[in-house]
Amino acid sequence: MTLTEMREILKSRDLQLTKSLGQNFLHDGNQLRRIVAAAELAATDKVLEIGPGLGPLTELLLASGASVLAIEKDSRLTTFLRERFANVPKFTLLHDDALDYLQRRAGGLQPPLDVPSPEAGDCKPPATARWKLVANLPYSVASPILVELALHPHGPERMVVTLQLEVAQRVAAARDTDSYGLLTLLIGLHYQHSGLFRIPAGCFFPAPDVESACITLTRRTPPLLGGQQTRLFVRVVKRAFSQRRKMMLKLLKSEWPEDKLQAAFATLGISPQERAEKVSLEVFIGLCRLLAT
Ligand code: SAM
Repeated sequence: MTLTEMREILKSRDLQLTKSLGQNFLHDGNQLRRIVAAAELAATDKVLEIGPGLGPLTELLLASGASVLAIEKDSRLTTFLRERFANVPKFTLLHDDALDYLQRRAGGLQPPLDVPSPEAGDCKPPATARWKLVANLPYSVASPILVELALHPHGPERMVVTLQLEVAQRVAAARDTDSYGLLTLLIGLHYQHSGLFRIPAGCFFPAPDVESACITLTRRTPPLLGGQQTRLFVRVVKRAFSQRRKMMLKLLKSEWPEDKLQAAFATLGISPQERAEKVSLEVFIGLCRLLAT
């Protein structure tokens, strides 16, 4: 879909874009193809696309032969997409808030894609279907959506997402840098990042005020921690980063016995004065294992 086609669709339907929904549409064919290539799609894959907009990415995802479940919040766009992909059997569209949808699914511990949609026929994948997230995310809800999926027990095997550059850098951050923090660890526990490329603002219509980048995340197999210990990990890192400049031991003392913490810190070689931003993912995992015993 070219920029001219996008403008014509918006004009003919009298569609005014909504800034609060992050409606910056990607029209650059090269960037769209790079995103799809990073997803390494096979015809057996199930793809979740959040925020399909006018469908420039959707079109390429479907061309790969994969099935696509798209969730779009703006009803004006779902009306258009239903017409545009009316006769495509592998396309399912939900009109919903994606974050609400994922949180509802997480409550039941169901895989987000294992869903017979009320609006389309048979989108139910076989139990073994691989599923991936490929999306140009609405920036205002990108971080909570990524965390929700990253911590989901049936999270996607791969996530290829376009984000605000600053957020992508936080996901991929190295320990002991300003970008390293809660987002790095909550996503890094179950996902490894491999590859980040910038997308110039001029590739979007309208051009966003912020810089953008696409990042690829691959699920770790086997997981570094099981379900129960993952919940403990979330509690520990949230508490440890609750006041970034404070010593981690002091912060953790409000939730765990001091003697247990001191013994764990000594075993792992963490200084009692250490702040969370100096502590690696591996050491946080070690801490959780010791606190769980
Ligand atoms: N994928 C399209 C593209 O690349 O051109 C559009 C991407 S645009 C950055 C984000 C899209 O997400 C918009 O279509 C917007 O309406 C939609 N959106 C915003 N918030 C949403 C939410 N909470 N749930 C689902 N879709 C949302």
